[in-house]
Amino acid sequence: MDILAHGLWGGLAAGWKRRFALAFLFGIAPDMCSFGALAVIRFVQGTFEPGKPSIHTLPDWLYVSYNFSHSLIVIGALWLVLWFFARSTSIPFLAWPLHILCDIPTHSQAFFPTPFLFPLSSYTFDGFSWGQRWFMITNYTGLLIVAVAWVVYRHRRRQANGLHSKKIMLTDPLAAGKTQPESFSSSNISA
Ligand SMILES: [Zn+2]
Repeated sequence: MDILAHGLWGGLAAGWKRRFALAFLFGIAPDMCSFGALAVIRFVQGTFEPGKPSIHTLPDWLYVSYNFSHSLIVIGALWLVLWFFARSTSIPFLAWPLHILCDIPTHSQAFFPTPFLFPLSSYTFDGFSWGQRWFMITNYTGLLIVAVAWVVYRHRRRQANGLHSKKIMLTDPLAAGKTQPESFSSSNISA
């Protein structure tokens, strides 16, 4: 799947409670560690060319990085560490394994099949290429539908919360954080 779609799906699925940007970054991280880093290096060197890079010109380190960043075993272990030591980050981090799961069916053996069982097994699934027009249209339509549903849900929830707090203020001033009425103040009771 393309890197922007990975970021958006990651943000929508794991970026709850104002963590969209972080989940987006974790969603693009597996490709940024490999092809993203290569693009930056080639850009700096002045040898960058847009489009799919030729498989014969790729450096060895890219394969190593791709294996580690696209392994459910490696990333699962990293997620466990976060779960125990940085639990709040472990939720948006789920965008990373989601990226791997999305890559498994959307890469064919022809170009970087997903090494999701590395280093335990070299098995890879022969999926389809994500660059096909039908998939791009379907994927971005799905993203749009989920994004609109998410915005509508948040808007309705905010409205409901606003009405709820207004109701509390009207019916129960104590619960709304107002001071105690005079008739119940401590000075009145002691007198
Ligand atoms: Zn990827």
